[in-house]
Amino acid sequence: MKAHILATTAAAALLAACSTTPGGEMDPLADADVENTVTIPEGTGYFAADSTLPFLAPDFTKISEDDYIPAFEQGMAIQKAEVEAIKANPEAPTFENTIVALEKSGRMLGRVARVFFNLTGTNTTPGLDAINKEISPKLTAHGDSIRLDPVLFARVKAVYDSRASMTMTPEDATLLENTYEGMVQAGALLTDEQREQVKSINSQLSTLTTEFGQLARNAMSEQPVIFDSREQLAGLSDADIRSAADFATELGHEGKYAIALQNTTQQPLIPAMDDREARQKLFEASYHRADGTTDIDTRLLIARIAELRAEKAELFGKPDWASYTMWDRMAEKPETALAFMEQMVPALAATQRREAAMLNEAIAADGGDYEVKPWDWYRYANRIKAEQYDLDEDAVMEYFVLDRVLEDGVFFMAEKLYGLTFERRTDIPVYHPDVWVYTVFDRDGSELGLFYFDPFQRPSKRGGAWMSNFVDQSYLWDTKPVIYNVLNIPKAPEGEPQLVSFDWVNTTFHEFGHALHGFFADQRYESLSGTATARDFVEYPSQVHEMWMTWPEVLQNYAFHYETGEPIPTEMVEKIQAASKFNQGYDFGEVVEAALLDMKWAALSKEEAAALDTPEKVSAFERQSLEELGLEIDLVPPRYRSTYFNHIFSSPEGYSAGYYSYLWTQMLDHDSRNWFRENGGLSIEAGQHYRDTVLSRGGTQDYFEMYQTFAGRKPDVRYMLEALGLVAGDETGEGTASDGKLPETAVE
Ligand SMILES: [Zn+2]
Repeated sequence: MKAHILATTAAAALLAACSTTPGGEMDPLADADVENTVTIPEGTGYFAADSTLPFLAPDFTKISEDDYIPAFEQGMAIQKAEVEAIKANPEAPTFENTIVALEKSGRMLGRVARVFFNLTGTNTTPGLDAINKEISPKLTAHGDSIRLDPVLFARVKAVYDSRASMTMTPEDATLLENTYEGMVQAGALLTDEQREQVKSINSQLSTLTTEFGQLARNAMSEQPVIFDSREQLAGLSDADIRSAADFATELGHEGKYAIALQNTTQQPLIPAMDDREARQKLFEASYHRADGTTDIDTRLLIARIAELRAEKAELFGKPDWASYTMWDRMAEKPETALAFMEQMVPALAATQRREAAMLNEAIAADGGDYEVKPWDWYRYANRIKAEQYDLDEDAVMEYFVLDRVLEDGVFFMAEKLYGLTFERRTDIPVYHPDVWVYTVFDRDGSELGLFYFDPFQRPSKRGGAWMSNFVDQSYLWDTKPVIYNVLNIPKAPEGEPQLVSFDWVNTTFHEFGHALHGFFADQRYESLSGTATARDFVEYPSQVHEMWMTWPEVLQNYAFHYETGEPIPTEMVEKIQAASKFNQGYDFGEVVEAALLDMKWAALSKEEAAALDTPEKVSAFERQSLEELGLEIDLVPPRYRSTYFNHIFSSPEGYSAGYYSYLWTQMLDHDSRNWFRENGGLSIEAGQHYRDTVLSRGGTQDYFEMYQTFAGRKPDVRYMLEALGLVAGDETGEGTASDGKLPETAVE
């Protein structure tokens, strides 16, 4: 999975934390025990005040592990008192005394949370882990107590209800809307009885999703596939065969061979296995996981989870779970996400058939007398790919040296597009010696913010790559952004050149795209600043910046062989790019199918979900959903089938109704790449326009409106399909609608 970011402000994160609901009061304003004054306690210790370093950068030399618990406790107590003061204000509720006052609350808590959660991700210790375990439930409860405070909500609602008569900036209006909707979403408008129902649903969901997670895991880890003879595993490496033998012995099957299943439908060892029946056996064990083929069956469980989610949505006045959870997304409605996926089907299905035909030829050439099945697919696809592209990843890496990638690649791009310049500095304390710090200067030479770059893998860091802020840009606080990018590039041994793989170079551009989204923030409020945007939007600006990695002018500025100094050969880059279009009928298709399944489950009404009351009906629903989509589902099955789709069923919310986001932001990304190509490419003019219309807008505007202001039109799915090789660039691709164009490709 690609990078994920944690970018909301502490206050927003806390307000958005959870949806458990304590009991409410009737007519809260009347019942409020109004005091005239509320004393706000003073904090103590490092986090009680702003840092004195430039840009308010955290001073890691002054922070110790003992500071966190008291700072969290005090930070929560202060915010609680600040909220009490808002409630006790004898003046009538106004935007300033209620909405802005709430936005301003929790400053100390935000300060400690940003530093603490940076460290638990990047450089954790057993001590920090223990604090995290202790403090996380308290933070959740604290956030809930604010979001579900009936007196506070009555004030928020009073402001919200009078919004038509108020004069507000668009940003003010968005802050008001988000504050109100966030509380409604938590249950502020529900009756006591409804809140009790929500509580009961939440607790049932928690139990059932935990049970699902355990069963899905058991179906994977406790049901390895047993093979009787070594011949069945021919083609696997000696090491793989040895570990299969050891694993079988461990399981009490002395003399046999056992292969454990991996999470996805496809299994990594299948392509290397020569014996077709053995391939099929391994594939089918994976595909039929938890679907009743063995004694593990999650089908009724997922139907019940879907029903409970729909029931909860109904209490909130929404027709289905997707409509309830998608309120703050760009796509907003399940129909929008479904229509988006359906648009890709003709081209994608045609590609799947084309790829299958190519594989059938390879099978025939190999002497096979059968048609390709999912358990043959990667065996032949990998073989063709190796023949056609012949890529040596180690040789590619020799052209990417880390400091050049960052300073002559990423920073060069930022200079050419946005006029930014960078200055390395060593006077700012860092949380690990391998973190580099730069001042970022804007186009006019003024200071824009501070950038921390933390490139290397280490045991104390979690996997993946991400961006976040130590300080958010905000005019309310007069703060400039302090931003960090975290990667997991394997560190070269001392004295050897620090080479970077192609994928990590790409990720470095990606994460810096998030950083730019943060640096160009132009907001009054932290909770709407920079990357504080919708889940199906936030990955889009970062993905766009991946395009510059291989843009000729950029590439020619940073990609030189570490020994010879020769520039990277054009053919090498072209080969990599061509290879990225290979096998997308499968690779992309299986993701579309999984995203569709997710959305179909989330779009069920309570009655529809309740009607799935036998395991057979659940199977039929899944089958019918996939068949209706029109892809070649028997050749290319979904990446996860419903019965082991952990992303959507193993926690009360998880990524349910959200798996499409990855495809959606990719669509925006490729549409934007096309805009850049048509509008001057790597130029200050194009960059400034993108900064003005997208990167500086934070979460203050309707996303479709934002996009349209940028591109002058709605986003169009065809550019993504072209980039993936699913349709031809300028020609009329086969498998598209009869006029050769994709049917109604713009999305709403
Ligand atoms: Zn990202």
